[in-house]
Amino acid sequence: TKWVYNFGNGSADGAADLRNLLGGKGANLAEMSNLGLPVPPGFTITTDVCTWFYDHKNSYPDDLNGQVEAALAQVGAVTGRVFGDDKKPLLLSVRSGARVSMPGMMDTVLNLGLNDVTVKAIGEDAGDMRFAYDSYRRFIQMYSDVVLGADHHEFEEILEQHKAENDLALDTEIAAEDWVGIIEQFKALVEKDLGLPFPQDPQEQLWGAIGAVFGSWMTSRAKTYRRLQDIPSSWGTAVTVQAMVFGNMGETSATGVAFTRNPSTGENTLYGEFLVNAQGEDVVAGIRTPQDITEKARLEAGSTKPSLEQLMPECFAEFQDICSKLEHHYRDMQDLEFTIEKGKLWMLQTRAGKRTAKAALKIAVDMAEEGLLTENEAVMRVEPGALDQLLHPTIDPKATRDVIVRGLPASPGAACGAIVFSSDEAEEAKAAGRKVILVRVETSPEDIHGMHAAEGILTSRGGMTSHAAVVARGMGKPCVSGAGSLRIDYRTGTVSAVGRILNKGDIITIDGSSGQVLVGEVTMLQPALSGDFGTLMGWADKVRRMKVRTNAETPADARAAREFGAEGIGLCRTEHMFFEGERIVAVREMILADGEEGRRGALDKLLPMQRQDFTALFEIMKGLPVTIRLLDPPLHEFLPHSDEELANVAEAMGVDVEKLRERASSLHEFNPMLGHRGCRLLVSYPEIAEMQARAIFEAAVEAGKITGELVLLEIMVPLVGLKAELDLVRASIEKTAKAVQSETGVELTYQIGTMVELPRAALQAAEIAKSAEFFSFGTNDLTQTTFGISRDDAASFLGTYQAKGLIEQDPFVSLDQDGVGELVKIGAERGRSTRPGMKLGICGEHGGDPASIGFCESVGLDYVSCSPFRVPIARLAAAQSAL
Ligand code: PEP
Ligand code: MG
Repeated sequence: TKWVYNFGNGSADGAADLRNLLGGKGANLAEMSNLGLPVPPGFTITTDVCTWFYDHKNSYPDDLNGQVEAALAQVGAVTGRVFGDDKKPLLLSVRSGARVSMPGMMDTVLNLGLNDVTVKAIGEDAGDMRFAYDSYRRFIQMYSDVVLGADHHEFEEILEQHKAENDLALDTEIAAEDWVGIIEQFKALVEKDLGLPFPQDPQEQLWGAIGAVFGSWMTSRAKTYRRLQDIPSSWGTAVTVQAMVFGNMGETSATGVAFTRNPSTGENTLYGEFLVNAQGEDVVAGIRTPQDITEKARLEAGSTKPSLEQLMPECFAEFQDICSKLEHHYRDMQDLEFTIEKGKLWMLQTRAGKRTAKAALKIAVDMAEEGLLTENEAVMRVEPGALDQLLHPTIDPKATRDVIVRGLPASPGAACGAIVFSSDEAEEAKAAGRKVILVRVETSPEDIHGMHAAEGILTSRGGMTSHAAVVARGMGKPCVSGAGSLRIDYRTGTVSAVGRILNKGDIITIDGSSGQVLVGEVTMLQPALSGDFGTLMGWADKVRRMKVRTNAETPADARAAREFGAEGIGLCRTEHMFFEGERIVAVREMILADGEEGRRGALDKLLPMQRQDFTALFEIMKGLPVTIRLLDPPLHEFLPHSDEELANVAEAMGVDVEKLRERASSLHEFNPMLGHRGCRLLVSYPEIAEMQARAIFEAAVEAGKITGELVLLEIMVPLVGLKAELDLVRASIEKTAKAVQSETGVELTYQIGTMVELPRAALQAAEIAKSAEFFSFGTNDLTQTTFGISRDDAASFLGTYQAKGLIEQDPFVSLDQDGVGELVKIGAERGRSTRPGMKLGICGEHGGDPASIGFCESVGLDYVSCSPFRVPIARLAAAQSAL
């Protein structure tokens, strides 16, 4: 078996496509060698050796030693040096490299091969003893730290003490003779701490380092990271051993890191930092302040330290040229490491650079326009979820964060304002021109006005599909929900966490993208929907198969969604309209009415209001499909509960408070989400469906007159489990349609369909499809009913499930494709077996989740529907899943 792959000197055994075998680092070094770029020669021990190592009680294959010897000889031949030789010693770096870059692994050992003898040879050879001893002491520090497991602070202490005693500021000021003394102290320290002398034998050093790399694959940090990132431990790590080049050989040497484009803005200019007379770890360690690579960056930063461009113009020009070569070769922005040894440039690493969402977007669009990528490739390059960062204000990454508590990132974006504890206060404050954050244990439909008025919402209870989370996402307002360690005391007007107390009126900032709650005001960055955004979206739309609709019930949401590119409404939750303004009064009258006649009286008052709401929506959505869902929630949600509220409402309505209380308690259910709701209400009170249908049809006629175009009406019945339920409601909708047609003389076209949100509906989809013209998968309830997990209470234990690794993701956030997904698939197939080509969509929160959208594509849904601010994300995710 070939365990070892050489590279350098313009050729290599491997190439970039051997990433699985050579790790990212090794594969890209091989690739750069093949491209003829200046790469110090070296070799990579494959990931197969790592697997072998763990399969064979931490030992190596018999023929590995010989292959390493041969590879070392080849490196020696290229460099004119010999590993362990006391005249012309070869020094090495040893680095880990998995398929994907992985924090928690051993990083690097530099200057390996140095000992009390070779250090002198290196010094004489370079004509610089200071350099040689500096390298040796670095080696002892690094090797002891990462291979032998010594405490690196103690080395730093020795150094700091020496500098203090001799009045020196920088390591580079320490003279050669002084380093000799320090090195003796270092070695003594190792011997004292570890009970063994620092290894002098270069072979022992090399195998020690190789063993440390393989060993670091199984550290608990690495294992945790793999578990979180879903990386199988069978992948293993490779070890790359490379001839050293020295950035610390005096003033014509340097080392640095760079990105071929700006990783935070995406701007197409080289961006990076370097240090003169230094080795790699100095740049990251932040001991000395690095200098800018380009003049442009130096001028922008107003730095007085010369740029690489000024200092070493030839190296800079060559580096710039290599950057452009690598970008063209990999067709992506690269993150590079380089070293300059006595004026000669060497490349040490290249890989795709990490970037912000903004940069990802700009780079993808620019590269397509430069001809480096096709439009479709550019579409694939931007992670849909990352667009969230671009659609909302975000906290300035430079701002300091005084985090008091962390909850769920329920609705993205950041907001800042004074604490208020009730929706009425929020509304008053807004009217007075003050910005507030509504802080509640949980919100209910009665808080809609407060949520509208507030800049953001913070709750201590409730998950990702709690009322607060769903409504806030719909409004595009930041929300942190389920911040469990927050103690909210409405009575004293205080909120506390980790021993800190905040009062009503105190300023807080919530970050709905991370779930953090911060004390005080912080600087925000405003979203800029730049031209690039529109360009990329245009490309995405060209390849997308699924339509993207929105969940909206207010004109403001509908308009926002249209601006984001929604192609209709996939879910209008009519109950949300019941809470606005005086509507709630009529709704309560209806609930309190003693018989059908009384209910009809109250519904007559609601009719014009609902009609007006629908008319407004239909005008905005002219020519597009609009799915209106009939009343869904259990009626108790519309009634007050506390004594105080009961008294207020009774007085306002002029009814006896006892009657109100009685009605509220008779509507009480142990399990309201599985109770008298959805079509069950419409079966009990057909007049509700009738009123709603009338409002919908009359509004369609009215809006049609205004816009000259009818919407494509879809009326949807919630929580259907039996075909008979749908039949019953359908009959009353159809009767109403006929009536409105004959009254207005306008011929109405519409479809009647159902939500599939109960397992029975999915299983019986073939039967239900006889009566339903379309299905919309209500995956919020379907998740709740499939798992038997309450969507309002799940937050209290789902976090533990995730922490213990029982589930990877909250199933209310990302569709459980195995279980709930199977029901969606069954529902889709069985529905279409009855009604070929029947229109299928999804309107649960999952309609805005990229992974779930990919699943929807795979089962052939026609559209996804999500809250307005997720529409662009869904457009991009739908495009990617179609490619
Ligand atoms: C659902 O259950 O997925 C759904 C969209 O309806 P709601 O969230 O209003 O119950
Ligand atoms: Mg539902």
